[in-house]
Amino acid sequence: MSDPAPTSLAFRLMATIRAHGPLPIAAFMAAANTAYYAKGDPLGAAGDFITAPEISQMFGEIIGLWATDRWMKAGRPPLTYVELGPGRGTLAADALRAMAQFGLIPDVCFIEHSPYLRAVQAARVPRVQFADDVTRLPGDGALFVVANEFFDALPIHQYVRGPTAWHERCVGMRDDRFVLVHAPQPTTAAIPPRLADAPEGSMTELCPLATRIMAAVAAQFAARGGAMLAIDYGYDGPALGDTLQAVRAHKFADPFTDPGAQDLTAHVDFGALAQAARAAGAHVAPLTDQGTWLEMHGIVTRERSLGRRDPGKIAALRSARHRLTDPSQMGQLFKVLEALAPHWAEPRFAAD
Ligand code: SAH
Repeated sequence: MSDPAPTSLAFRLMATIRAHGPLPIAAFMAAANTAYYAKGDPLGAAGDFITAPEISQMFGEIIGLWATDRWMKAGRPPLTYVELGPGRGTLAADALRAMAQFGLIPDVCFIEHSPYLRAVQAARVPRVQFADDVTRLPGDGALFVVANEFFDALPIHQYVRGPTAWHERCVGMRDDRFVLVHAPQPTTAAIPPRLADAPEGSMTELCPLATRIMAAVAAQFAARGGAMLAIDYGYDGPALGDTLQAVRAHKFADPFTDPGAQDLTAHVDFGALAQAARAAGAHVAPLTDQGTWLEMHGIVTRERSLGRRDPGKIAALRSARHRLTDPSQMGQLFKVLEALAPHWAEPRFAAD
């Protein structure tokens, strides 16, 4: 990075590092992603990446049908559909259309930071209301919460195991370039006890914002009734490793070049999310692969019925379903976390 423009985020981050010393990776990632999502639409062929709802309407429809089934079993209470980071609003539009076919017309609330994407979402789902505070979701009925590729965009902290302790990994500067350094003091963060004896040089990640959001949302649907689906690439942590990545124009890039111009993500620790949801009073189902989950909930039937209606689309539908479910595509890398209010949960979750 040489000579960034004085108005650029890189320039401002460098000034901050010069004045105050290295920044935790989480601060760098938060600043980069806030700038990145504010500037436009990152999705689609002309953007940087494509998400499951943009691949096929079947994705949002299956999610809508899953929610409708839970809602019927719970006695059809008043419901608010909440989506975290809805992108273009495609998943919501598809899910809400599927719900409406069964008489479920919920209120709709989106949590979205980007003013640009808020406008796109409001055009897609005109009855939406936006909320800023996840600790006080609107309404007082049940909640159905969806988060697809939301948690991976939240800032992570990274830690490196030194000879005797864990140290936070930070972004410093050398010769006007960003470089990675370790904080000299051991971290006071709560590194999971299971990782205490990791060998020197090991890395691990924590995403306290993700666990805070999960805890806040789960506390509300656990009390009010409802359920949540969190879908993302991730693992059942705690675990060792460095998963920070940048994606630009559908290719991996260096996360520390050109902050704000590319999407920074990290794999989601579903173990940490599940623990936060349980501590808030929700029941959590065993983590499922996206492919298995979509097949369990009827994607093949949905593909056939769409194909019968429009035979010209049969090949495209099959290829979309393959992309969403095949283990070599998104089927295995992506996971689905189901969390439910205790009184919405099925008996198979009762022992959790
Ligand atoms: N769920 C969509 C978009 C995924 S991209 C899809 O599947 O297509 C990530 C989304 O989360 C974007 O809408 C982005 O603006 C939003 N986002 C990222 N960080 C956020 C934060 N801290 N608070 C609210 N929204 C955020």
